[in-house]
This record gives sequence, structure tokens and C-alpha cells, in this order.
Amino acid sequence: MSARLLATFCLLSGLVALSPVRAASSQDQTLAVYLRTGGNQPAAPLEQMKRELASLMHEAGFHVEWRSLDSEQRDSTDAAYLAVLELNGTCGLSAGNSPASAPPSTPNSLATTSVSDGQVLPFSKVNCAVVTKIVAPALLHEAGAQRDFLYGRAVARIVAHELYHVLLKTADHAHTGIARSCFTADDLLTGRFEFEGATLARLRTESAVASEEATDR
Ligand SMILES: [Zn+2]
Repeated sequence: MSARLLATFCLLSGLVALSPVRAASSQDQTLAVYLRTGGNQPAAPLEQMKRELASLMHEAGFHVEWRSLDSEQRDSTDAAYLAVLELNGTCGLSAGNSPASAPPSTPNSLATTSVSDGQVLPFSKVNCAVVTKIVAPALLHEAGAQRDFLYGRAVARIVAHELYHVLLKTADHAHTGIARSCFTADDLLTGRFEFEGATLARLRTESAVASEEATDR
């Protein structure tokens, strides 16, 4: 069995053209995300991440339900889709935390999703040390609440990218939007950055098919 990681992000400079987003269907499929944070993540950016991710995934036809892998109490679930998300490093930026403080062993990718024998597996990791390195120069001078908001939103965009791989079981990428292979610092920080139209259509089709299958049962 060959296992590898789908390292999904690199850094490029350039501009991204985004397609307008249509209204999402009201029949969202439930996506249960089992979260492992190590138990010591700063709360405010994490809450902002969840809020932004809910919005991004709702546009794609999915309702995110959070489950914790940090506690002993494990919830059972009847969700149509499951994913496991691990947040590595500190996913937030405190005042005066300069990017130079990132450990030298920092990986190069923002996030990875596991692939085994050509199959995309629902196990994703975000490397917050890399996120911090990229967003810190822009966020260091922001006030605390705004910094938490921008940091959390950036992580949500990265998580949404990995969930795209998991939901569609694909290693492919789009040319624009959240499903593209490389994110710039601007992609992470700009006011609006979402799935582009073709990827949204694929995700909504996936959600609709699951909905029909559920109805047939
Ligand atoms: Zn990717």
C-alpha cells in the first residue's frame, strides 16, 4: 500500500479572478468534521474559522457539524459525510508574535490531505506555523479582534480547500478560487475568496446526489 500526502498549497504571486456566487440550495448535506486541536488553540480565531467555514461550505451545499477528537466523549453521527481535521501549531497570532519565531522545522505546505493507493482519504491537516508565517506581516499591526477574524478566515479558506478534496475524492485542482492549488497571501487575506463557479457546481451536485440517495432509502 502506498500512502502519500496531498500537499495542496504553494505560494505564488498573482491575482485571482473570482466568479460570482449563486445562492446555495436549502437542502444542505451534513458534513461532520472531527476536529483535533491539541486542546490549546486560541479560541477567538478558531471561532472565526468555524463561522467562515460554515458560510463557504453552505454555498457549496454542505452544513458543517463540529465534533471533537480532543475529549474522551465521542459523538456518534449519522452525517452523510465525515472528515477528520487536525490543526497543528498555534492557529492564531498574539500581539508582537513575529513570523521569525516560527520553528525552523516548519513544513512548506499550508495543509495536506492523505492519499492512499490513489484514493483521497478524509484526513486533513493544517500547518498553522506556515499560515502564521504568511499572514503575520499583514496582521501584526491589526487590533486584536480584527487579527483573530482575519487569521480565522484565512484558516477557513485552507480547510475548505481540503474539504473540497475530501468531498469530491479528487486530487485535482481548479484554476481559480479556493480549489486552486496555490494560495497567495492575498488569497488568504483579501475580503472575498471563495469556490469558483465550476467547483461550486460539482460540490452542489455531490450534495444533491447524496440527498436523493437519502430519500431513496
Ligand atoms: Zn489541493
